[in-house]
Amino acid sequence: MKSVDGHTARKRFGQNFLVSPGVIKKIIDAVAARPDDTVVEIGPGLGALTDPLLERLPHLHVVEIDRDLIARLHQRHAPEHLTIHAGDALAFDFGSLKGAGRLKIVGNLPYNISSPLLFHLAAYADKVCDMHFMLQKEVVDRMVACAGESDYGRLSVMLQYRFHMERLFIVPPGSFNPPPKVDSAVVRLIPIDIPQVGAGDTAIKAIPEGMATDYALFAKLVARAFSQRRKMLRNTLRELCSEDQLLAAGIAPTSRAEDVPVAAYVRLANALAV
Ligand code: SAM
Repeated sequence: MKSVDGHTARKRFGQNFLVSPGVIKKIIDAVAARPDDTVVEIGPGLGALTDPLLERLPHLHVVEIDRDLIARLHQRHAPEHLTIHAGDALAFDFGSLKGAGRLKIVGNLPYNISSPLLFHLAAYADKVCDMHFMLQKEVVDRMVACAGESDYGRLSVMLQYRFHMERLFIVPPGSFNPPPKVDSAVVRLIPIDIPQVGAGDTAIKAIPEGMATDYALFAKLVARAFSQRRKMLRNTLRELCSEDQLLAAGIAPTSRAEDVPVAAYVRLANALAV
């Protein structure tokens, strides 16, 4: 167990603390928070990002699971500047923080829960202005991969459906204490401005292009397609659609999940929803 600044880094909470002033500055500059923004940081840890964020903001929300770190944060920051939400970010309702201003989410995320956390955060796309995260570089590569690339998968489709994403820069292991085994990267997510509606919602007459009319069906279809990513879709999706329906959506029945662009998954889901 590594001790960092008197705290024993806990592997189960994915604790790799940022110690590079240059990287911290690049992240803070990328986030570009304004005093009237509502900003929430996931996993403040020992405050590497928290402190510089509080230099720009009169108030910050943080979500932290480690009780020792929560106690340290309470000691160092007055409640009028820092609201500490003690608990699991996977269960936190980020939408509850949405006020009149822009809502921004930031964090050097715990790598052991990064995929479920990203799926959880995707549900708040209609409430946030943007999100900036440090993640394993391999995860960021999967997030931004295009159809046909080896990194393209369920995470790429489900996040690209909701966000424009950009890999900003790579961060080497030596920027952390303890250092992780792999490279990391910082990614920016900006929500795509399309209204999200449930199945049967009649409020929106014309469905904007690229929007799934039944999000749950779209999510199920994508999950099923990638459950066996190397198999032909006519086999993996047999229980959900026919070959004719695949063809009508512009998808060759012999293609594999990793070859199909996001828009084609949406077309197919919308055809099945009617
Ligand atoms: N922000 C700090 C930094 O950059 O040095 C710490 C980043 S460290 C990679 C991840 C942080 O997330 C730790 O503080 C850890 O305790 C916290 N964490 C881990 N799992 C969490 C969870 N499920 N919910 C909220 N925080 C969590």
